[in-house]
Amino acid sequence: MKLSFYGAARSVTGSRHMLDMPGFRLLFDCGMFQGRREEAAQQNRDLGFDPKSVSAVLLSHAHIDHSGALPVLPQHGFSGKVYVTRATADLAGIMLEDSARIQQNDCRYVNKKEKRGRTTCIRPIYNSDDVRKILKRFEGERYGNQINIAPRVTASFHDAGHILGSAAIRVKYKARGNTTTVLFSGDLGRSEMPILRDPEPPPPCDVLILESTYGDRLHERAGEEMKQKAQELIAHAKTHKSKIIVPAFAVGRTQELVMRIKQLVGEGRVDPIPIYIDSPLAGKATEVFRRHPECYDEETLKTFTADRDPFASRYIHFVSSPEDSKRLNMMKGPCVIISSSGMCEGGRVVHHLKHAIQDEANIIVFVGFQAEHTLGRKLVEGWDVVPIFGVPTQRRAQIVKFNGLSAHADRNDLLAYVRAINPLPSKIFIVHGEEKQALSLGAAIQAEHPNIEVQIPHRGSSHEV
Ligand SMILES: [Zn+2]
Repeated sequence: MKLSFYGAARSVTGSRHMLDMPGFRLLFDCGMFQGRREEAAQQNRDLGFDPKSVSAVLLSHAHIDHSGALPVLPQHGFSGKVYVTRATADLAGIMLEDSARIQQNDCRYVNKKEKRGRTTCIRPIYNSDDVRKILKRFEGERYGNQINIAPRVTASFHDAGHILGSAAIRVKYKARGNTTTVLFSGDLGRSEMPILRDPEPPPPCDVLILESTYGDRLHERAGEEMKQKAQELIAHAKTHKSKIIVPAFAVGRTQELVMRIKQLVGEGRVDPIPIYIDSPLAGKATEVFRRHPECYDEETLKTFTADRDPFASRYIHFVSSPEDSKRLNMMKGPCVIISSSGMCEGGRVVHHLKHAIQDEANIIVFVGFQAEHTLGRKLVEGWDVVPIFGVPTQRRAQIVKFNGLSAHADRNDLLAYVRAINPLPSKIFIVHGEEKQALSLGAAIQAEHPNIEVQIPHRGSSHEV
């Protein structure tokens, strides 16, 4: 067998790993590259391999950096199946449609803005037709089931506890009485996250492909201290009639925040405060969450089976139409507005910031990673004047950051994951991490397990396994 890495190798986006067996090519993930526009577009149009040659795809989860280039496959003659968990099938459906829509809007905007001086227009990498074509190829599977992919190839999904439907994927290949097992971790979550079950312990494998997003970092724990901070924040908002603006990713993070606030209210630590979830995608994603109780942890399941909707309450309002969204701009606090994008690079949240940022009573709360050069990063770094829609704008609102909410395993979790594999694998490939993270995790694993061959593959490299 041969393993080749076409993305998320010494980087985090564009997760694409190919497992070649005699007569069969299996692709793990087909993610979108994100970054500088032209370079990313090139890497998303040309996947690095011939899509026609791929026999089947196994998708770890719906995040766009893992699923976002799937619609490119049928453009080039891919005619196999895409195996996913049932929840991922639904979630990837709405996210890929959203991705096609965003690309169309972005292209329209750029072409209009750059009309002069350009001879050719930029075009979307795919459209909603391509999305429909690939969704028809999806096969929704249950966690733990053995899936017969080809006569000598089987696969199974194991809950990764990262987002709804996320899975580590194990592939078994039988040849001449020998079985070789490859485990792809996908993105691993953390224990004790709301809604989701904890990541399943890893099944035995010969070869492990392991993510390393936080290979060199430890997270704060989301414990009592964080609850206290949220409690004080909401109390402050009530006294000062503040608007609390929370830029958050529409899928996963938004639902998690709703659960955490409901928990505080349920424990009697805060009085209910109006919460507006201003994102059409968040509304659709919450519907998908409701359809998949098989992914819930015990507590969420208990609420669900007691005939209560874990994602609803009389103080939670989903906002869909642009008119209702605009109405929120004029509204007075106290209230919480959760809106995307999570790094304030576009989306409705930028309008909310524009209207709220100059009032010192208001609070902007960050709950996720803010990449360099984004508006979110500038705010987290405490800039007093920030560009909003290109206009330098004075910031008077208070900035608060919560560090304990990552949906990714940290360094200790990743090391524990490897330790839990019994017997230990003979080879580990470290992927899905910036070079520094991947190298650091690789060195730590090597030091602890000198008999394992640890590799940090480069993009485009192939390895016999
Ligand atoms: Zn992910």
